[in-house]
Amino acid sequence: MTVDETPSAVPETVPAPVPADADRERHGVLVDKIQKYRAAYYNDDAPLVSDAEFDVLYSELETLEALHPELVTNDSPTQQVGGDVSVAFAAVEHLARMYSLEDVFSLEELEAWLVRAAASVEKRGGKAPQWLTELKIDGLAVNLLYRDGVLVRAATRGDGTTGEDITHNVATIKDIPQKLHGENFPAEVEIRGEVFIASKDFAELNEKMVAAGKPPFANPRNSAAGSLRQKDPAETAKRPLSMYVHGIGAREGLGTATQSETYALLKSWGMPISPYYKVLDTLPEVMDFIAHYGEHRHDLIHEIDGIVVKVDDLATQRELGHTSRVPRWSVAYKYPPEEVNTKLLDIQVQVGRTGRVTPFGIMEPVKVAGSTVERATLHNQDVVKAKGVMIGDIVVLRKAGDVIPEIVGPVMALRDLQDPPVREFVMPTHCPSCGTELAPAKDGDIDIRCPNSKSCPVQLTERVAHLAGRGGFDIEALGYEAAAALTNGPGPDPAENGGVIAPSGPGPVTSEAQVFQLAESYPDPALREALADVNVWREIRSKGAGTGKFQLVPYFYTKATAKKPSVPSKTTEKLFKELDKAMSQPLWRVLVALSIRHVGPTASRALATRYGTMDAIRAALLTEDAREQLANVDGVGAIIADALIEWFAVDWHLEIVDAWKEAGVLMADAVDESVPRTLEGLTIVVTGTLPTLSRDEAKEAIIVRGGKAAGSVSKNTSYLVAGEAAGSKLDKAESLGVPVLDEDAFKLLLASGPAAFAE
Ligand code: NAD
Repeated sequence: MTVDETPSAVPETVPAPVPADADRERHGVLVDKIQKYRAAYYNDDAPLVSDAEFDVLYSELETLEALHPELVTNDSPTQQVGGDVSVAFAAVEHLARMYSLEDVFSLEELEAWLVRAAASVEKRGGKAPQWLTELKIDGLAVNLLYRDGVLVRAATRGDGTTGEDITHNVATIKDIPQKLHGENFPAEVEIRGEVFIASKDFAELNEKMVAAGKPPFANPRNSAAGSLRQKDPAETAKRPLSMYVHGIGAREGLGTATQSETYALLKSWGMPISPYYKVLDTLPEVMDFIAHYGEHRHDLIHEIDGIVVKVDDLATQRELGHTSRVPRWSVAYKYPPEEVNTKLLDIQVQVGRTGRVTPFGIMEPVKVAGSTVERATLHNQDVVKAKGVMIGDIVVLRKAGDVIPEIVGPVMALRDLQDPPVREFVMPTHCPSCGTELAPAKDGDIDIRCPNSKSCPVQLTERVAHLAGRGGFDIEALGYEAAAALTNGPGPDPAENGGVIAPSGPGPVTSEAQVFQLAESYPDPALREALADVNVWREIRSKGAGTGKFQLVPYFYTKATAKKPSVPSKTTEKLFKELDKAMSQPLWRVLVALSIRHVGPTASRALATRYGTMDAIRAALLTEDAREQLANVDGVGAIIADALIEWFAVDWHLEIVDAWKEAGVLMADAVDESVPRTLEGLTIVVTGTLPTLSRDEAKEAIIVRGGKAAGSVSKNTSYLVAGEAAGSKLDKAESLGVPVLDEDAFKLLLASGPAAFAE
C-alpha cells in the first residue's frame, strides 16, 4: 500500500459489499450528527460534545465509508475540511487550499503510517524521509497573506477554500508582524499557523471573566477561537492571543528545500515559530518525542492535543500531494483525551476534619486520562456559582495527567434539553452528619463549617482517621473504615438507602480522648466490650456478584458460634498492640495527631524542636507574650500561633491531651544524652531519596544532634543532603555555594560535626 491510499481504504480488487439498510441509516445519522457538532464547534466556538466523542463518531463514519465506498458523497464530512463562513465576516478565498490533518489515535497506527509513507517515498526513488516533528497546538488555524512583505489579509480556515476575513482582529495580535523583517521575501506568500491562548494567559483570562460575572471559557481552544472571531476588533485586542506559524500556502518563489529551512526563513522575517519542533531521522526518535511531550504536556507554553509529523523535504511533500481533506505527507497523533463530557447527577456536600463543608459533584462515571471518574470537588459555594453548573447539566470534566479531576463548566447549549430539567445547587443550612446549623468560622469567610466539632460524627471519624494516619501516630490497623466503625453506628439499611452505606449516629468512641483506652496496656473493659457490639452493613454476595441485599456483620469481633464465643478479630488484636507502640511516638507526631488547624508536620517538628515537651508548649501558651513567642519560632509564624492559642483554650481539647497522657502517651522527646550534639547551630536541608535513610529518619538524626532540619535552601543553609532525584533544591544549593553531601558524607557529619570536613 502506498500513502496515496488513505490507510482505511479497501484495496480496489476486493469488491465492496453492498451496504445494508442499517448501514445506510447509520451513515445518515452519523453525517447529521457530525455536521451539527462541527457547526457548533467551528461556527459558534461552543462544542456540544467533547473532542473525544467527536473523534469516535468521525472514525466510525470513516470505517463505514471504507467498507461501502458508494456511501461517500462530496458533502460527506470525510471529504470536507470542517468549518463554515459566518455572515458576521466577509468571505475570502484562500490563494491555496487549506487542509486538515489525518488523525491517528494509537502508536501502532502512527508506526504503520510512517512505515507506509517512508516506503512510498523510497519507491518513488527518494531517500528515507526526515520527519519534522512538532506539537499539535490546540488553537485555531489562520491564513496570513503578505504582499511585498506587508500583511494585507488574515482569514480563518473556513471550509478550506473560503475563510472569514479577520484582518482587523489579527492586527491586534502582537506576535504577528504587520511588515516582514529583512528584504528577501517573495512578492506574495500565504503563511499559515495556529492562533492560541497561552496556558498562563488562559488562567488569568478566566479569572477576569469570573470577576466580571461572566462564565469562564471551557478551554483555551474555544477561548482563542471565540476571541479571534469577535465582531469588534477592540474586543479581540483585549484578549491575550498568541500565534505560532507552521506552514505556507501560495507563494511566489521561496527558495527553500525543506519545511525546517522554511521555518528558519520565516523566523528571520520576524514570524513567531514554535520553540518545540525537531527534525528527526528515525521512528524510535519520533516515538521518544511523543513520549516526552506526553509526560510534559502541561509544562508547555500552550495546550496541545497531539503531535504532528511532517515529511521535511518540500519536493517530496509536493510529490505526495493531498486528498480532498488532508495532506498525504503529514499525520497527527492524538494523545488520549483529558477532557470529556458527562452528566452532573447531583451536588452533595461532605464535612471535613475541621468541620469545613465542601460541595462535590457526582457524575455519570466516565473514563478520562486513563482512569474512571465519578466524583470531583467543587470546593465551596462560590466555586459552584463561578463555574455556573447546575444539577443535571452536561459538564466538561477535565483530568490533566495526575492532577485531580476538575469540573470545568456546563455545556450551555445542552442545558435546556435536559430531562428532568436542571436545578440549582443550594448549599445546605444544616450539617448533613449531625444536623447542627452551619456558619462561616468568621465573618467574611467563604467556607462554611459545622461548629459542632466535638461530637459531629463525621468530623470525629475524620479526626480519628487522621490521628492514626502516617503523619500522626501511624497506626496501620486504624484506617478510615475502622475509624468510621468506632465513631458511628451502622446507619440505615443500604437496600433502603439507594445502595449507599452511610454510617450514622454515635458509635462507642465519642471523643478521640478515648482512643488509647483500647490499648493493650491501658484497656477500658467497658469500651472493649462495646466493640463487641459494633456492626457494619455488608452486601450479601452470591457467586461473586452483589445481590443488592445487605446484612449487619460484627466489625471488631468475630461472630459468635455455638462452639466459639465472640473474640477480638486478628486485626483488632493488632490495633490494641499498635496503640501501645504508638504511645512512644515522638512529640511532633502527637502534635500532628491533635488536628489543630494549620499545624502539620513542619510546624509540629518546629514546635517539638523548640519546646521538647507538651508541658513546655502549654506553659509557653500561658505566658503573656505567648503569641509573639510562638510566632517567632522558626517554621511557626503568626497564623499557626493564633491557631494554637485558640485550640488550647478549649476545654475538651485539653481533655484529649490529658487523657492521652494518662493512658501513657509520651508527649516529650527524650533527650538522648548519649548522642553528641554535633550539629548545634547548623541548618540542614534533606532532599531526594537517600540510599538507606528515609527523609524522616534523616531529619530526626539532625534534630537529636541539636541541628535544625529546614525545608528550603537559602543562604543560611549550612549543608544540603541530597539523594537521588534531588531536583530544584540541589540547583539552588549549587547556585548559592551551599555544600552538598551524599548519605555517606552526611553520616560523617552526624558523627563528628563540621570538623569532619575541616581538612
Ligand atoms: P485537527 O484539529 O485534528 O487538525 C488539523 C489542524 O491542526 C490544522 O488545520 C492546523 O490548524 C492544526 N495544527 C495545530 N498544530 C499544527 C502543526 N504543528 N502543524 C500543522 N497543523 C497544526 O483537524 P480539524 O479538522 O481542524 O478538526 C478536527 C478535530 O477538531 C477533531 O478531531 C476534534 O477533535 C475537533 N472537533 C471537535 C468537535 C466537537 O464537537 N467537540 C467538532 C469538530 C471538530
